[in-house]
Amino acid sequence: MEFFLCIMIFLIGLLMGSFFNVCIYRIPREESIVFPPSHCTSCGTQLKWQDLVPVFSWIFLGRRCRYCNEQISFRYPLIELLTGIIYLLLFLKFGISGTFLTYLTLCSILIITTAIDLEHQIIPNGLVLTGFAAGVILTLTGLSTTWKDALLGLLVGGGVFLIVALISELILKKEGMGGGDIKLMGMIGLLIGWKLTALSILLSIYAGGLIGGLLLLFRVKKHGDTIPYGPFIAAGTFISIFYGYDLINWYIRTFLY
Ligand SMILES: [Zn+2]
Repeated sequence: MEFFLCIMIFLIGLLMGSFFNVCIYRIPREESIVFPPSHCTSCGTQLKWQDLVPVFSWIFLGRRCRYCNEQISFRYPLIELLTGIIYLLLFLKFGISGTFLTYLTLCSILIITTAIDLEHQIIPNGLVLTGFAAGVILTLTGLSTTWKDALLGLLVGGGVFLIVALISELILKKEGMGGGDIKLMGMIGLLIGWKLTALSILLSIYAGGLIGGLLLLFRVKKHGDTIPYGPFIAAGTFISIFYGYDLINWYIRTFLY
């Protein structure tokens, strides 16, 4: 039964990933995510079901559009697989529960946000607002954390990044943190509570510093280039929701006793 559920949840993840691909392409272009039905972004031909089977269609079509032969980005199967795997991991860790539902919502929004931020360097307001609305509903129905914890999470998440933004704006005279990042972190805080939010912020700063340093070292980026911060927020949050309490307990045991 458990095994059957695992397969089901992985398949649902693949299908949701397929829908997220549509969102990732259309939201930054301000197109509707429900209409028109899926079409090739190159030739515009409406796709049939056999062109839309997650991962498999991409492989069996030889990574090309059946109608115009244009290459299909590997981002499509990658997002599908990633979503399937994350859904499965969340189920294995949290079972069918309010926490599972909350993190499923959060991770879905983070997958779409990260892909859009990497390509366009924007974090769409609509996505963040969707997360806020979900957070309010999940908190009020008691499926997520307590409303006090959610509210503190919102304050910690939005507040810390707002302070970072103000400091870099006023003292360093450069933009250190985009408005999109501040809103995104506030939304995450509302969904995961203040402790995991604080940890996510810390992890995102470490990850950003490490990857940013490596990109400079290998001359992929040069000084003054901007690097989208959303992916680091997402990475920090993923680690936080999976291992957050283990990390926090380890830290307290190791350094505070
Ligand atoms: Zn085509």
